[in-house]
Amino acid sequence: MRTSGGEAASAVPGQPARQDSLRTRNLALVLRRIADAPTPVSRAELAAATGLTKATVSALVDTLVGSRLVGELEPRRTRPTGRPATGLVLDGEETAGLGVEINVDYIAACVVDLAGRVRHREVVQDDQRGRVPERTCAAVAAMATRAIEAAAAAGLIVAGVGVAVPGLVDRPGGVLRFAPNLGWRDIDVRRLLSRAAGLGELPVTVDNEANFAALGELHSDRSAMPDFLHVSGEIGVGAGIVLRRELFHGTRGWSGEIGHVTVDLDGPRCRCGAQGCLEQLAGQEAILRAAGLSVSAATCMGGQATVGRIVEAAERGSARTHAALRQAGRALGVAVAGTINLLDIPGVVLGGIYAPLAPWIAPEVQREVDRRVLSAAWSPVAVRVSRAGSDAAVLGAAGGVTTAILRDPAEWMRRRDLRLAVGT
Ligand SMILES: [Zn+2]
Repeated sequence: MRTSGGEAASAVPGQPARQDSLRTRNLALVLRRIADAPTPVSRAELAAATGLTKATVSALVDTLVGSRLVGELEPRRTRPTGRPATGLVLDGEETAGLGVEINVDYIAACVVDLAGRVRHREVVQDDQRGRVPERTCAAVAAMATRAIEAAAAAGLIVAGVGVAVPGLVDRPGGVLRFAPNLGWRDIDVRRLLSRAAGLGELPVTVDNEANFAALGELHSDRSAMPDFLHVSGEIGVGAGIVLRRELFHGTRGWSGEIGHVTVDLDGPRCRCGAQGCLEQLAGQEAILRAAGLSVSAATCMGGQATVGRIVEAAERGSARTHAALRQAGRALGVAVAGTINLLDIPGVVLGGIYAPLAPWIAPEVQREVDRRVLSAAWSPVAVRVSRAGSDAAVLGAAGGVTTAILRDPAEWMRRRDLRLAVGT
């Protein structure tokens, strides 16, 4: 609706719109428009797009520029007459998010600025199975500290931390309830990291790595579908469900456990206690075993080198590797088709190890969804390959921090002013 002052905000029925909440919503509206615009946008264009008055837009933009969330480009002339317009873009020179990832065979950290550029990245291939959580979290905390120092050296303020973990997470508490491949249960990751890293007052969000990987895909591909299922193959297999460019978490935040969907009633026993789960047929170790490649050697090499071995064997024409990938692709296609039949999602993105293995896996997935998705005859299911690659989860974890700022810039501006005032 349009109020008398020209503010395009919708009031909550039965409640008067308070002036400060109106301003908060309009700040977010303007910042989101600037972030989503394919090219730098002017104040006049923002006024036209939002329905706000030019004076209101100018005041809001000045606030966002003053808080280093928006930057102004050199004025450009869009029409032969009139004043040249100043293009507005996200300012990536001050505000950033930190993402860290604990996975089965590696840990990682990265800093992404508000404009979406990766400013720092560290990955250590190191098998975490059998490690006590305190030891892993101490290593990740040290990584996070190095990342924050690198960000500070580049003049960036880290606004928060996203932590990607391979298991079920209680949201918003951040307790990792169960990570079958690590053998961890009921671990308060947020507390362990905050204590060990000296991360101070930074807000920490813990979520499943497959959820963050889906967000990472959204961040790295501006043409990403607004609704899709993102499937990440690692040693475990997880999925993130994206609806209208937002993650769908389920009632308790535990959605997306596609790796434990049964695809073979009498299949091999899974670490979760069930049998015939997808990850026992399409996870990294299942593919290695079926291809006759050594699993223990792979454990020492780390994820990317391991996938490289599978790719190399497939390119060499190894019939056994091709059969292993066909079987994995079919199992994945069956699980994906079931999910799409249930949720009516128009496409699937293959991430993690499935991205480099896509030449062999994707055709099998496509064949199974074409056969099994009821609506495929009228609306074919798009099978795409991830653009974010193996960094998707840690990118998404960092991107989740900057997305939260875009959603509520006023809240970040309050915290920023407080931090600048106390000099941290
Ligand atoms: Zn299972």
